[in-house]
Amino acid sequence: MAEAKKREKSSAKDGAKSAAKGSAESGTGDAPNAKGKTTAAESVEGEEHVFQADMQQLLHIIVHSLYSEREIFIRELISNAADALNRVRFLMLTDSNVRDAKQELEITLDIDTDNKAITIHDTGIGMTRDELVSSLGTIARSGTLDFVKRLSATEPGQRMEMIGQFGVGFYSVFMVSARVVVDTCPADPDQAPTRWVSDGGGSYSLLSSDKKQRGTSVRIELRDDSEEFAKGFRIEEVVKRYSSFIPHPIRMDGRQLNTLDAIWSLPKDQVTSERYAEFYKFIAHQMEDPLHTIHLTIDAPVQYSALLFIPKHLTNEMLYSRTGFGLKLYANKVFIQDDCQELLPIHMRFLRGVVDSEDLPLNVSREMVQQNQLLTRIRKSLTGRVLRELKSLSEDNPEKYTTFWAEYGKVLKEGITSDEANKQRLLELARYNSSIGENAEDMTTLNDYVSRMREGQKEILYYSGPSREAIERNPNLEYFRRQGLEVLYFYDQVDDFVMAQLREFDGKPFARIDQADLDALKEGDAIESEHEALEDDAMAKLMEYVKERLGERITAVVPSKRLVDSPAVLVSPDGDSVNLEKMMRLLNEKFSPSAKILEINPNHPLVSNLSRMLQSGGDDPLLGEITEQLFENCLLVEGMLEKPEKMVARIQTLMERAAALQVQTLPSSS
Ligand code: ADP
Ligand code: MG
Repeated sequence: MAEAKKREKSSAKDGAKSAAKGSAESGTGDAPNAKGKTTAAESVEGEEHVFQADMQQLLHIIVHSLYSEREIFIRELISNAADALNRVRFLMLTDSNVRDAKQELEITLDIDTDNKAITIHDTGIGMTRDELVSSLGTIARSGTLDFVKRLSATEPGQRMEMIGQFGVGFYSVFMVSARVVVDTCPADPDQAPTRWVSDGGGSYSLLSSDKKQRGTSVRIELRDDSEEFAKGFRIEEVVKRYSSFIPHPIRMDGRQLNTLDAIWSLPKDQVTSERYAEFYKFIAHQMEDPLHTIHLTIDAPVQYSALLFIPKHLTNEMLYSRTGFGLKLYANKVFIQDDCQELLPIHMRFLRGVVDSEDLPLNVSREMVQQNQLLTRIRKSLTGRVLRELKSLSEDNPEKYTTFWAEYGKVLKEGITSDEANKQRLLELARYNSSIGENAEDMTTLNDYVSRMREGQKEILYYSGPSREAIERNPNLEYFRRQGLEVLYFYDQVDDFVMAQLREFDGKPFARIDQADLDALKEGDAIESEHEALEDDAMAKLMEYVKERLGERITAVVPSKRLVDSPAVLVSPDGDSVNLEKMMRLLNEKFSPSAKILEINPNHPLVSNLSRMLQSGGDDPLLGEITEQLFENCLLVEGMLEKPEKMVARIQTLMERAAALQVQTLPSSS
């Protein structure tokens, strides 16, 4: 109640987000000087700001539903402190005018057992008053709001994993605190220190601060239910769990809690798999072990060491996001940059890890990183090494490789068309399902397919669809199944693009089995059928009728060699993929797929019956209706039927006719 009142009061005074932000410049009585800089003397005591609405929502969730994961607030605050230390170290490389330039870069934890409070100090970059408002007063990170929405929709038991992946950030502190006081003194000697105070309700206050030393101190006044964190051993336990690899000393009571080991620079045999996993969890914010670890120490043609991890699962972020990926870059153990995208091609964006090079100049700026020749050379070497590692994995541990490919195959395949230099190696890593497999998980390589090709078989046959079931339902497959010709099954949308560009592998052209002019059909024997084939003459008349009836919707009607159990199928005159066209339609509503060739099975009873109907005058409207239905069935199988409503009405008519015929044969009811 009291809180709601306070919020109302401050809303009236301050307005929402924009006002809170605006007050940093124009102020509510806190006039900045001409340069837009505020000094301590000008600050007004207890100036209150409301949190923006999104953030109130976030705070609510944090305080009320993340109870069991409370300890991660320590990880979040330490990671912020470490970021601030990295940033000031970076600043000092290029700017000589930094406050307390001689100060050691460190994190210190103070426990005030009597008052049940903890303080986390850092000697990092600090925040100006404006930065404080924008960093701790708004959801600065664009992903956060998205995170909030997803978190509220997640089962409590699975939340920990989500938090692990995203990090809740600074606000996690309100899981444990009654009140938080942030004192911060910016690296810029012209900027004054500021104090930020909040109880995690609807608002925060800005005050002047007497902090003299560069950096930030976050004082957490614990709630009664979180007293456990006012004990040294508990804090130490949490720091060890999450923050062992923070590259700055973390001290408590004069003791250093973390080890600072740059494990990527150690020889492989000195690092246990537990330590690799621990490091991975720390840098990738993951709860589970990695799927695979790659540790490299390379001396030529460039010197670098790399410690890379393949996570267990491909997330949507990895699949769709073309930003926010990349490795951590170090120059001789000094941190340079997060998410360095210059180190790997985009189709390896699922890798997490660290690259460290002694050859990289320390004072390299972020802009220079982008143009650095050395990085281009590291990238080339590293890409090759990763491919080599994947190849060995596929040979030494095929089972694990299959798991890997199932998760990341669709990302790696992007490289087949975009990374000309490594095309061949990527193709050799590719695995596909095929008609000889037992199920959708049974994979083969292109090389193995080629080695199984029949005597005289010229084409690598493939077909694509959303699933094995969908592909195997397609009448196009009947002939190849009967003849025992192997067909590769493609399920990823990217496959059709890749094949269209590749055209061939090992000198053998790729051919979609719904292509009209398949070599395999020309060469292959005709299939024996239980039904007698329609006479050529009658067949010609029927095809003429069907073409006239369907008009422009098809380019031609031809007798089929590939059908066994189905009466008709659509094939592409030029081998253009149906999937490709479906995708074009998704991208462009006006895109109309090119007309197809209709193949008719002369051995099918329906076809011979239609021919008889035609011969006996052809004036029964049923003949036309069945022809339409035959065509639309083909469209439906291909997923190309646009107006299913019309089809329902037609089926209704056909059902009425069938039922009426059936009734005629029944004994009359008495
Ligand atoms: P993130 O760390 O992902 O950016 P946080 O919620 O943890 O998100 O922190 C928000 C921002 O607040 C940081 O990006 C940083 O600008 C600022 N910040 C937080 N803690 C500190 C600190 N100890 N020193 C300097 N700036 C900090
Ligand atoms: Mg953070």
